[in-house]
Amino acid sequence: MTQTKLNTRLSKRVQEIKPSGIRRFFDLASKMDNIISLGVGEPDFVTPWNVREASISSLERGFTAYSANAGLFELRKEISNYMSNRFSVNYDPETEVLVTVGASEAIDIGMRAILDEGDEVIIVEPSFVSYVPLVQMAGGVAVSVGTSNENQFKVSAKQIEAAITPRTKALMLCFPNNPTGATMNGKEMQEIADLAECHDLLVFSDEIYAELSYDEKHVSFASLPNMKDRTILISGFSKAFAMTGWRLGFVMASPDLLAAMLKLHQYSLMCAPTMAQYGALEALKSGMDDIERMKQSYKQRRNFVVKSFGEIGLPCHTPGGAFYAFPSVEKTGLTSEQFAEKLLLEERIAVVPGYVFGEGGEGHIRCSYATSMDNLEQSVERIDRFLRKLM
Ligand code: PLP
Repeated sequence: MTQTKLNTRLSKRVQEIKPSGIRRFFDLASKMDNIISLGVGEPDFVTPWNVREASISSLERGFTAYSANAGLFELRKEISNYMSNRFSVNYDPETEVLVTVGASEAIDIGMRAILDEGDEVIIVEPSFVSYVPLVQMAGGVAVSVGTSNENQFKVSAKQIEAAITPRTKALMLCFPNNPTGATMNGKEMQEIADLAECHDLLVFSDEIYAELSYDEKHVSFASLPNMKDRTILISGFSKAFAMTGWRLGFVMASPDLLAAMLKLHQYSLMCAPTMAQYGALEALKSGMDDIERMKQSYKQRRNFVVKSFGEIGLPCHTPGGAFYAFPSVEKTGLTSEQFAEKLLLEERIAVVPGYVFGEGGEGHIRCSYATSMDNLEQSVERIDRFLRKLM
């Protein structure tokens, strides 16, 4: 089959989407031995046993059927209570909570629910790699607003305002941030909330790392005055609950937005896996101590990584949340891709080059510190040796 013929079989929309830059690195790393990976964005903890047991027990009891499209009502009630207790947001479990297949699905159906062809979504970058493709797949146009090291990768209302056009429909925020670990406090968020109100924007707030806020209490965007109705609040179990493989997330929004997302969810997914929902129910009922234990461990590793990177001459702002450090490699004179590739080949450390995360990412590498202290200590030694050879 010729290339041209093949292309006519695929939608233009999909062909225009670039494959993720992260993949190339992992493909390369997967063929090498003795690699320490600081590349993957997932906890190094196994899901706590009581959560696994609750899921196993649901299977033993024969709960193997579909759940309600929106998710087990018991779970939605528990999610609603949890979010109210932890982040002061109040959502009705009947009409304002939807259990999804990961936060990933929540972002996808959120975009598809609100975008018409050509509608613009402002993406604060560096950002999680799926935002731009999901906007594009929904027919929208992603407009990037870059953040930088100088402002600890925070975004200002002024920067966002400069990107607003008559086609701007929504804004995508993610704090604590992947890949930078940046956080924003209530006052900084309030300025963005005022702007959203003034320009009548919808706001996606991806708060999947909310529990992993180390220095200040996380402020949910939806908890700010008058913001609930214009916020699509996304979260899930992957990160703080160490449940990436369970594929379970949730989205909270006003009833009209939620009903639109539910339509897409019910026709494409039907419901999230029932056995995973039973596990999540247990995680919410009894998992708060586990969250705290894992959080303290990440915090300790964050402190080690930031301090060590500073000592070996890799400037790194202190990430307030998530489990990523985002040091600058600019002074090596290499691009982030060259740096990451050379580091992988010469010292067998896998990191993600910052350019894959969009504007503001170039000149940096993302290092996940969700790996053992032993791995982190060895990584620092190897990166130190690498830098000394280089400079
Ligand atoms: N949002 C952010 C910011 C992420 O970093 C990730 C995963 O890395 C996701 C969403 C997707 O999470 P899930 O596993 O719930 O689909």
